[in-house]
Amino acid sequence: MSAQLTNEELVQIAKDFGTPVYVYNADKIEEQYKTLTTAFDPKRVKIFYAAKALTNLSVLRFVKKLGANVDCSSINEVKLALQAGFEPSRVLYTSNGIHFTEIEDALLLGVFVNIDSLYNLQKLGEKYGGKYPVGVRLRPNIMAGGNLKISTGHDKSKFGIPVEQIDQLLEMVKKYEIKIQNLHIHTGSDIKDASVFVKGIEVLFDLIPHFPELKSVDLGGGFKIAYKEGDPVIDIQELSEKVLGAFDAHAPAKNLEIWFEPGKFLVSESGYLITSVNLIKETAATTFVSINSGFNHLIRPMFYDAYHRITNSTNPEGAIKEYSVVGNICETDTFAWDRPLPEVREGDLLVFFNAGAYGYEMASTFNSRFRPAEVIVYKGTAQLIRKRDTLDDLTRNQVMVDL
Ligand SMILES: *Cc1c(COP(=O)(O)O)cnc(C)c1O
Repeated sequence: MSAQLTNEELVQIAKDFGTPVYVYNADKIEEQYKTLTTAFDPKRVKIFYAAKALTNLSVLRFVKKLGANVDCSSINEVKLALQAGFEPSRVLYTSNGIHFTEIEDALLLGVFVNIDSLYNLQKLGEKYGGKYPVGVRLRPNIMAGGNLKISTGHDKSKFGIPVEQIDQLLEMVKKYEIKIQNLHIHTGSDIKDASVFVKGIEVLFDLIPHFPELKSVDLGGGFKIAYKEGDPVIDIQELSEKVLGAFDAHAPAKNLEIWFEPGKFLVSESGYLITSVNLIKETAATTFVSINSGFNHLIRPMFYDAYHRITNSTNPEGAIKEYSVVGNICETDTFAWDRPLPEVREGDLLVFFNAGAYGYEMASTFNSRFRPAEVIVYKGTAQLIRKRDTLDDLTRNQVMVDL
């Protein structure tokens, strides 16, 4: 199994499909999925791929083929998952901040929904009583995750029903005879410590006896992966032992299914963004390398201060120099400052690693530039799975009026 694409493969893809281009190595997605299914007993643990990391239909279809379920963040993601071939019973919609009508749409499509507010739970109860079993997303008031922007379980987070409102929740469930089959928490992203999940479980364990219809406990996603060598990552085997151990030790939880919703873990390392060098600009402060991309294609460095490994795939043996890698849009879009790279020349291909999750997915057409093409590689064969934008894509929905 080729977990990582070689320079030669990446250069060939750039030749065949042009740049900038996102490339996903499906073999790597498969490897990551197998890591999960090896560690977790599939009879007890269900994996829902958090689609928002990367929603390309071919990726969804592949993840389905691997045997995963899917977790969606919007009704459109639900529709994409169904279009990719997921049966509704394998689709979960963890909603937040949405209008009740969107919850109804998902329920009518046969999809299971995690409800994130008392407001919408009340509406569900009023309209449907116990007709549609649902889950509730709780906010455990735990601080976890790589940084505040990606932490979702703390006491000022908008996500979930705060656990201190449990009495109100129970009253509502009783009054409308709502069937709560799943308790959900997702505390954030980039969690490297398995004990964070155990902490979450402890919050949930106290609540389990209040929900006689409960079938599962959903611990969300957020498994940390490595962005650079030596990065601490989550140990899936340890996570499995700790979580299953905690469930075994707690009688009311023993027979519940355990759900996880990994996004980044499954697709981040599979992805590459291949760009090419437009020009080199020497200044007193640094040597800039301008590439044919920007935060319109990969926003994580500017938005999260994320580190992405970069290689010069067309001059890998060049003498190492320091460069600041920047984009071509009219906005500061620094990918890396003073990064040691093999000598960079016009036309060289700079490749960003770990670009599978929240890469293309967060891309925009800022500066009226095109979003990149997407290519998938499986067992050595590369296929286009999304064409590069064209001018037509930028104007398609516009209506030009004379005023
Ligand atoms: C974003 C999200 C995930 C996935 O997070 P990753 O860090 O990509 O694993 C899972 N569940 C929910 C509810 C989310 O919002």
